[in-house]
Amino acid sequence: MTDRLSMQDPREQYPKPPFPSQPQPVPGLARKMEPVPDHGETSYKGSGKLAGRKALITGADSGIGRAAAIAYAREGADVAISYLPSEAADAAEVIKLIEAEGRTAVDLPGDVTDEAWCRTLVDQAIAGLGGLDILVINAGHQQSREDISKVTSKDFDETMKTNLYALHWIAQAAVPHLSAGASVITTASVQAYEPSASLLDYATTKAGIVAYTKALAKQLIEKGIRANVVAPGPFWTALQSSGGQPDEAVQQFGAQSAFGRPGQPVEIAPVYVLLASQEGSYISGEVYGVTGGAGIA
Ligand code: NAD
Ligand code: MG
Repeated sequence: MTDRLSMQDPREQYPKPPFPSQPQPVPGLARKMEPVPDHGETSYKGSGKLAGRKALITGADSGIGRAAAIAYAREGADVAISYLPSEAADAAEVIKLIEAEGRTAVDLPGDVTDEAWCRTLVDQAIAGLGGLDILVINAGHQQSREDISKVTSKDFDETMKTNLYALHWIAQAAVPHLSAGASVITTASVQAYEPSASLLDYATTKAGIVAYTKALAKQLIEKGIRANVVAPGPFWTALQSSGGQPDEAVQQFGAQSAFGRPGQPVEIAPVYVLLASQEGSYISGEVYGVTGGAGIA
């Protein structure tokens, strides 16, 4: 493969649709995807931007969270990873990659729709890392439903709990432990600005994440802590192939982007590094779009 950082046409850099049919139960596993996403396993090179930092990332077993976890470890951070127990096979690969950098990995399987677990997970991350400097709240639940009549209260609850309540519970538990220079990063979506008809509940939570993070940024800067949002466009992750999109849409995923392809998780990792690092010292309350040309707002 050409070096990721050598000059080239970005539209041609990674696989394009059509992709094979590949439905999975939720939550999907990255290791079962075809093609397997690039989370930076061999392609992300660090340069000491996060030396000695301590980071907690939710949903770090796969997709965007995994790409952030690999990048953070390569930049010199110790990383605690939160994920669902059924994703242990993906998570084990991430732990290996963090440890291969000589960094500490803290393993935190559990369900963030449970308030008590959210508080415990923050405590365990802090105990295992010896503190907390970077908090990435990224876990997400997305199930497409073609019509309002199909969004059950159970569906609605699951999406709200995973995407919004857990954000509040984890942030609330973590904030007292953060000190000046720390950084909080949330993952919203282009869906916050351009909601798809089939993602009523999901898009609502993503707009909520933007508002919550901007409000939190105003509180936290009083303590010298920054908070920002990343808003991805279409990224090739198991979120999509496990019901986030219908299977036919997964086969064409990214075709509508100006790039004619979805983003690979490693292509968004540098934004999580920038926002976490002191290079982002004047960046707070912002929303960073990485949308493949669609733009946000
Ligand atoms: P992903 O499925 O690889 O990651 C999502 C992770 O969320 C899962 O790995 C899982 O560990 C975690 N999670 C879900 N429910 C959980 C629960 N109840 N308890 C604990 N962990 C739970 O998919 P991804 O695309 O990398 O998703 C990461 C974030 O990016 C999500 O917030 C998603 O909404 C957002 N996003 C993704 C896209 C995209 O196209 N892939 C676009 C915009 C936004
Ligand atoms: Mg996963």
